[in-house]
Parts: sequence; structure tokens; C-alpha cells
Amino acid sequence: MNRDLVVHEYVHAWNGRFRQPADLWSPNLNTPVRDSMLWVYEGQTEFWGRVLAARAELRTYQETLDRLAMDAALVANRKGRTWKTLADSNNDPLYMAGHPIAWRDWQRREDYYPEGVLLWLDMDARLQEISGGQRTLDDFAHLFFATHGAVGKISTYTFEDVCSALNAIIKDDWAARLRRHLESHYDNDAVAGLARAGWRLVYKDSPTETFRQDETESGVSNLDYSIGLQVRSDGTVRSVVWDGPAFIAGLAPGSRITAVNGQPFTFETIEHAVNLAQSSTLSLTFEVNNMVQTAVVDYHGGLRYPYLERIPDRIDRLTPLLAARK
Ligand SMILES: [Zn+2]
Repeated sequence: MNRDLVVHEYVHAWNGRFRQPADLWSPNLNTPVRDSMLWVYEGQTEFWGRVLAARAELRTYQETLDRLAMDAALVANRKGRTWKTLADSNNDPLYMAGHPIAWRDWQRREDYYPEGVLLWLDMDARLQEISGGQRTLDDFAHLFFATHGAVGKISTYTFEDVCSALNAIIKDDWAARLRRHLESHYDNDAVAGLARAGWRLVYKDSPTETFRQDETESGVSNLDYSIGLQVRSDGTVRSVVWDGPAFIAGLAPGSRITAVNGQPFTFETIEHAVNLAQSSTLSLTFEVNNMVQTAVVDYHGGLRYPYLERIPDRIDRLTPLLAARK
């Protein structure tokens, strides 16, 4: 699942080590830093992690699409965006680094990683769109991260520097485009780059191999996009989607599901029951605060797992991005 971690850290040699956000740079530990550019520092590094892992064949093309589908689904369903923008999320490390958070999609700590992937995918697709496929984010990286022999020095950057580099490649209102991602309260803005790249997020009733692998590594059944919870094999609820069907039925992180429609809890029984609930009821028995209760989950949409699908008649700008450079 984390096969691009090494790639991500390698990219930091340029984005982080050589070039650093101006407000994140400090001459000593007594000077406070700020994090307004983490959507570049971490966000674009995460983007290159996905892209370069595909180009280096650390992931297959299909595995990369499936990983991007998971990024897109997470970003497209962030309840916390209604109150907290991406710009605001950049401040998270200043006050909540390392803190456990119970309501991830509502508190949305450090979303500049996955949201950065979608933001920079949008910028790459826009560069391709207005240049007729002649310019990509590779051109930005060549320009912005070029050391010009300045080995061992640190070069700082600001929001304006990022816009200037994009404008040097091809003129557009980059500042407005970036601000829209940074300041929007709408999920659609965050995933707009997918459609510009010729793809869309869809849901099917069985998971991709990559999704299943992530569940196995996390030790959960991930029902985020159906009843809205993730549950461990002993029935302990790991997370609950804010205002989702499980939330409304009274489940919370730390609850323990003991029975599904009267049957003992297993991953198989709950997934089977969510599927059957398209035409029947789903009742969960769970313990919370030492009390046992049974609640009906009002959900009838079946199992839902994220996939990327091509938009017919739109130019595919994602496949060329992921192809190895010769
Ligand atoms: Zn990083």
C-alpha cells in the first residue's frame, strides 16, 4: 500500500530539503515556523510519489488507478470541508500533530497529502489542456526544483513563487486556480482535476485488489462508502463517517459490534448483510459505554467501493502522466 513512501521521501530531497516554504524555514529552533505551503511541500511530494512509483513500476498502471480512486473517494467525501478548508488544514501540525483524532473525516487532519494529489493532478491536466498536451507538471518540476549547481544551500519559496513558475511555463490565472482548491468548501472543487484528466470516480459492489490490501494491512472491513464505518475483526469500530448511516444509528469509534441481524459478528456477516440490506433491514447489536443496544441502520445502497473510470470522449491526460519517461 505504501510502496510510494520511498519515492515520496526521495522527492523531499528537492521539495523540502533544497527548496523550502519560506515560512517553514527557520534559522534556529527559537524562531516559530508556519505551515501555509504544506499543500506544496507535502501535497506535491505526495503527487510525485504516486506518479513516480507508477513510472518506476513500483505499482502497475492498474494499481496506480486503484490507489488514485482511493485518494479521490477520500477527498470527495470529506464532511469536514464544510467548515474547514484545505488552507486551514495546513495549520494542523501546529496544534494537533500526533494527537489521536476520533472523527477523521470531520476533523480532517493533514488532508493536504491526499488532497494535494488531486490538486496537482488538476494543475497538470490544466497545463496539458491549455498547451495542447505540450506542457505538464514535469516542466514545473524542472524549473522550480532546478538546483543550478547550488548544492548544499536552501532556497525558499512562497505562494507567488509557485504561481510565477507556473506562469513561466504557460500563462493562466494560476493564483485563482490554486486559491479555489485552498479555500473551497465544496467536495466537487477538490476532485475537479479528475474530470479534466478525463476520468471520474465511480463505486462498484466489490473492492479493487488494492482496496482489499489496504483493509488487510489496517485489519478492518472498510465500509466508509456504504454504511459509513470501519470495523476491526473483533467487532471494534475503528472509525465512523460523520453524519453517515452508522453515525445516525448511534455507533461511534470504540463501539463494539457483537451481532449483525442476530448473527455473531464477522467481516463476512456484516458485508453480506450490507449487501442484503438493499431489500431488507440491517440491524446491528453493539456495546457502547458498557451498554448493549440494537439499532437499525437506515441504508439500502448496497456495498460501495471506489474505482476510476474513463469519461468517454474526453482526452485521457492521466495515462501519459503515469507513463515512464525515456
Ligand atoms: Zn513528506
